Amino acid sequence: MKSDYIVTEPDTPASARLAPKLAIGAGLFALAFYLAGDRNDEPAPEALASATSAQDDIALVPRTHEARSLLDDIAPISSAQAAIAPPSAALEDTERSNAALLDLAAQPPAAPLEPQDEAQLVRLESRELVVRNGDSLSILFDRNGLKPIDWMALAKLDGDAKRLLRLRPGDKLMLGLDDEQRVAALDMRINDTKTLRIRRDEDGQYEQSLLVDDLSVREVAVEGVIENSLFLSAKSAGLSDRLTMELTDIFAWDVDFALDIRAGDRFRVIYEELYRDGKLLKEGNILAAEFTNRGQALRAVRYIDSDERAAYYAPDGKPMKKAFLRSPVDFTRISSRFSMGRKHPILNTIRAHKGVDYAAPRGTPIKAAGAGKVVFAGNKGGYGRVVILQHAGKYQTLYAHLNAFRRGIRKGVSVSQGDTIAYVGMSGLATGPHLHYEFLVGGKHVDPLRVKLPSAPPIAKAEMERFQGQTATLLAKLDDFAPTNSALVASASENVSQP
Ligand SMILES: [Zn+2]
Repeated sequence: MKSDYIVTEPDTPASARLAPKLAIGAGLFALAFYLAGDRNDEPAPEALASATSAQDDIALVPRTHEARSLLDDIAPISSAQAAIAPPSAALEDTERSNAALLDLAAQPPAAPLEPQDEAQLVRLESRELVVRNGDSLSILFDRNGLKPIDWMALAKLDGDAKRLLRLRPGDKLMLGLDDEQRVAALDMRINDTKTLRIRRDEDGQYEQSLLVDDLSVREVAVEGVIENSLFLSAKSAGLSDRLTMELTDIFAWDVDFALDIRAGDRFRVIYEELYRDGKLLKEGNILAAEFTNRGQALRAVRYIDSDERAAYYAPDGKPMKKAFLRSPVDFTRISSRFSMGRKHPILNTIRAHKGVDYAAPRGTPIKAAGAGKVVFAGNKGGYGRVVILQHAGKYQTLYAHLNAFRRGIRKGVSVSQGDTIAYVGMSGLATGPHLHYEFLVGGKHVDPLRVKLPSAPPIAKAEMERFQGQTATLLAKLDDFAPTNSALVASASENVSQP
């Protein structure tokens, strides 16, 4: 026997809006999906139906609005029949004889079913299981009073269904239970685009399929001028906090957002929004951005290289990322700046401060400013506990007054840029917790706040043409900037990366 599941929205006449989209056959088990034309209706409870002959039919009515995202667009039997086959006279005859129909009082009302449709339904009770920390399929089923035989059968499935053996907290399983509380249907969203769908067939075997949503991408362009705070101005321009953080991360190598921002600074951002079924799913990446700091405009564009690594580059192909972090610690303020000092003309004393002091609470992690090797980790008189890193070429960085070293940090150990190496303290001669940070070029102290930091490796010459091809359009959009109303809607299957 053949089963058909059809998908639509129940609150408008199905015949008016259904259009076949795709059909997947799996042996005797066939799925037919329909996409509704109008997705801007008020969110309505949905129903799942199997529209076939006689008593094997199934209807599953999600209990909550939340359920909609999982059992997305599942239709009542009436729509199914309108789309697939008109009810036959024989079906009408079974009208009131079906005692197996379960009425789920707790459900939001589904679209009214026509009597001849109800007759052939075996309704499933829908139940949503939310995975908690430490849950396995068996723990989850046990807690919900479900039968071990079902999770054992589900756990034996291979392919995409193996995901059921790697449940994560927050995963949602939408189940359809028959009147013996056995699992007849299961939907679980696997990621932004994929839903695992499992149905029990006539022989009691579980069959799985994978529903794949098309995401569409919309480019959004936003610009703003900073008045008081970057975050406030960005917000009023329509930029989320997350994207604002990303924007500061992109330019943080050249702009010190704690110290350098001035009223009148400007930004332009082009980013992606990802849509599923016409609804905003999430924000994507920043594609290109311009930040004008004190009259100087900096630009960055996202480029995915031939090894599929994405990074931000200046229009000339130099990476935005530098070989060194400007500040190796999240500080509350700079308590002392760099000064080489000079002989006081009268007192004849020298007061030099060959580094920068970053005040920060005791225990604040200190990051390696660049990739390198630990050449010293120990005590140095008034500097207290000190780490010195040797970097490629002629660069050294020094971190003093540490509260403690990070475990494993000792002479000879290699570190990556951004690795925590130690914690802020006040060892040695210090009046309060702070990081004393020195930057040496060829053994000579320079001002860490002013030194021109070397770039990370640039785009290879061989790849320059590819870079220019990929980024030219985005850079042109920064030139002829048109805030969001010029946004493009593009089909995205080829340029949306799966999470
Ligand atoms: Zn100092």
